Amino acid sequence: MDRSKREEGSASYVHGGYHPVNRGDLLNEERYVVQSKLGWGGFSTVWLAWDTQLNKYVALKISKSNDSCYTKMALREIQTLKAIAQADPEDKECVVKLLDDFIHAGPHGNHVCLVLELLGDNLRTLLKHYSGKGIPLHMVKEICFHILRGLDFLHGKLSIVHTDLKPENILLPSTIDPEKDPKKLAVPLIPSSNKGKSPIATSSSSGSNICKTGNQQMGLKQKGKLVAQDCGIAANDDVEEKLGLEARAVQRKTWSNKKILSGAWEENLAQKIRELSINNLPEKQSTMASLDLKCKIADLGNALHLPIKLIVPIQTFRYKCPETLMGSPFSTPADMWSVGCIAFELATGDFLFNPQGENDQERVVNHLGLMMELLGVIPKRIDPGGKVSKDLFDKKANLKGCRNCGRTLINMLRDKFGFAKRDADYFRDFLIALLHFVPEKRPTAMQAILHPWLDGGLRLLQPSSSPPQTQQNAEVIPEDNTTV
Ligand code: ATP
Ligand code: MG
Repeated sequence: MDRSKREEGSASYVHGGYHPVNRGDLLNEERYVVQSKLGWGGFSTVWLAWDTQLNKYVALKISKSNDSCYTKMALREIQTLKAIAQADPEDKECVVKLLDDFIHAGPHGNHVCLVLELLGDNLRTLLKHYSGKGIPLHMVKEICFHILRGLDFLHGKLSIVHTDLKPENILLPSTIDPEKDPKKLAVPLIPSSNKGKSPIATSSSSGSNICKTGNQQMGLKQKGKLVAQDCGIAANDDVEEKLGLEARAVQRKTWSNKKILSGAWEENLAQKIRELSINNLPEKQSTMASLDLKCKIADLGNALHLPIKLIVPIQTFRYKCPETLMGSPFSTPADMWSVGCIAFELATGDFLFNPQGENDQERVVNHLGLMMELLGVIPKRIDPGGKVSKDLFDKKANLKGCRNCGRTLINMLRDKFGFAKRDADYFRDFLIALLHFVPEKRPTAMQAILHPWLDGGLRLLQPSSSPPQTQQNAEVIPEDNTTV
């Protein structure tokens, strides 16, 4: 699935694919009222919905239909989420909670639906807020801390490997823009009586904006944009909308007071604009400073329970660990590798590994080459049978068709991303530990929490039991359904 595309596209809205959802749709005997789209993935679309029984917002994950593969996956996700909810009744463990589940019959077949607690933006969206330049290091640490807490619980307590950790699957507790947080509204935006069947546009907006019609919103933004241009203010969408609102309010007030004296309303507006532009920057900064980073691990659709008897292809390609690329046995350390990739990406805004290639084989070689370039030669023991290695390496254990360009992690952090020496040293140590080629040598989630980079030991935690080891006697399934 190409997640670089912003929307899921209409091609998958066919039999065996996504369920076509309309604003105001009622599901599960009219209990859930669909409000707007929250997101989508390779296997499902996810919607903001109002629970008319409990009078609160929920997230509705509607899986692709009938095709036994998607249905089976969704049913497995429900089982996993039930085990998680049972083991964490106090909701302390940084993993998303399942509230309900049901089957919905639609024009494209039967869809398994998961009702999940409503969370906020995913970490990809957070990265975009920093214009791809990376998130301040203290925030990255806090996020990593919560991811690792969630993993300590999944690995240590439940013997579950997530297998698909990536920024899109880690969710903040609320939206980045507090004004777009539907949880703050104690009433449905679209009441259950409103069954208007206007299909929901492929925009994933939620919250206050969906109260307004497209025309109203456009009108305000356009008005705001003009005002901002006139006054030489660099305004983003939010500010433009606010300016538009102000302009309209000031206009109305002056008109209703019959004070259309030349220059009066412009002057009044100019004052408002000055206030808005002055308030804008600190407001935005303080929003990010006060952002709740207690994120949760979501999307348990590909999670596997230990012991793993079949070696299935796992992980999304940039976050794949070397043992997965080589088709070797894997276990909980596979998730730890992905955490390393995510931590780097959050801190720098760049993918740690961005393999290229015309086909899978080329991409695997390129990926392993990038790993060796940064982390040294891959030891033979992670490919015990040597089956894959034979194709990838020459007799001198060099990767075929790949050259070392002398990039090192510390150089990258210091020179390319401008980290201070101390930050770069600690962060490098943390990353190098997670990115050990030998899975058993990677730290467990709890050991990673205690790493000095995360100010280990300062936080009060209850470790779970130690994680089980890699399964060595598993059967290998060929790579035909890898998540990419
Ligand atoms: P993938 O292609 O990663 O397997 P998927 O089809 O299994 O995806 P999810 O990853 O579970 O679907 O969800 C897709 C997106 O929907 C997420 O990236 C997130 O933005 C949004 N989302 C999922 N669950 C929630 C939730 N509980 N609250 C808010 N948004 C959510
Ligand atoms: Mg996902």
